[in-house]
Amino acid sequence: MDMISDLNTSSRFLLGPGPSMVPPRVLRAMASPLVGHLDPEFLQLMQEEQTLLRLVFQTDNELTLALPGTGTSGMEAALCNFIEPGDAVLVASMGFFGERLAEIAGRYGAQVERLERPWGETFDPAEIEAALKARKYKLLALVHAETSTGALQTGIPEIASAAHAQGALVVLDTVTSLGGLPVEIDHWDVDVAYSAAQKSLSCPPGLAPITVSERARQALRQRKTPVANWYLDLNGLEKYWEAPHAYHHTAPISLHYALREGLRIVEEEGLEPRFARHRAFAEMLWEGLENLDLPLLIPLAQRLPTLSTPQIPPSIDDAAVRRRLLDEYNIEIAAGFGPLKGKIWRIGLMGHSSRREHVRLLLGALEDILASA
Ligand SMILES: *Cc1c(COP(=O)(O)O)cnc(C)c1O
Repeated sequence: MDMISDLNTSSRFLLGPGPSMVPPRVLRAMASPLVGHLDPEFLQLMQEEQTLLRLVFQTDNELTLALPGTGTSGMEAALCNFIEPGDAVLVASMGFFGERLAEIAGRYGAQVERLERPWGETFDPAEIEAALKARKYKLLALVHAETSTGALQTGIPEIASAAHAQGALVVLDTVTSLGGLPVEIDHWDVDVAYSAAQKSLSCPPGLAPITVSERARQALRQRKTPVANWYLDLNGLEKYWEAPHAYHHTAPISLHYALREGLRIVEEEGLEPRFARHRAFAEMLWEGLENLDLPLLIPLAQRLPTLSTPQIPPSIDDAAVRRRLLDEYNIEIAAGFGPLKGKIWRIGLMGHSSRREHVRLLLGALEDILASA
């Protein structure tokens, strides 16, 4: 077998939809010696992690923690804890991850109603409000930053208020937004939001931050049936995160070291400067792409600073360009998929990947490759 000796992998510039690049400080934190998952030092670390998560989610929610698993674990937890068989769930979907929300909700026994926009478009909040009025829903689920298209759903406060007026909880996917652009859970009155360590928080994959409002906790307490997923049952997880810290599962210690360090970096930079940095380098990228005749799919007002999606002219060989970026420049970007397969690239400038030198390097590499193609 052809093996990568001593895991001596190439150093890539990770400019795709995640994982993003991990700062050396975070990698060093991960290499710290293990302590046990009930060690007082580890419990203190978890408490600090919780405080920092509340800061990035901009919430006072007591129930705020990091779940084991990647972003999809957050999706599972956000749905399985609040869905009982037969519950009506509205999913507003504008791409791949909205579709995944609908799929997961269905597996927990929900009667799922899909409200759809074509990939690349977003919802007018009034459209969601009208759908909420048509039927009594237990829960509305939607994606804030749709990584399959590069679109940002705006109007979350209006959407949340319309859902609450009808008695529905709001679940928001903030996987590609948290840490890269404003996510204001309390101000927007979102009930459940989850994310992933490896996108705009720039940590290794394996943990999924989640935060849950008092309203949602009340709904959790009023369930008639046990949560169908034992591992992600917030009742059990909460007993581990809160004193007296009852064992639930063995926490992935090193990943928590990493996430705490990554969150400390976010705190040191400050949310506003961090969002401004993501915005500034995204704008630099957009201008450069337009100059290379690679127009952006998403109109400016709905465009994500963390994930840009230039359209590929038919004359360009999508896969060949990505291969050369990787082989000759060590740069990873991603392909489009679903209805956007072959039509767009997906370029992530998330967390530590969002830097001037990366934008310049990518634009220079694309210019070279396109000139010689
Ligand atoms: C990446 C992503 C997910 C899934 O996260 P994984 O870490 O791949 O499990 C969910 N939602 C959105 C919007 C994403 O970008």
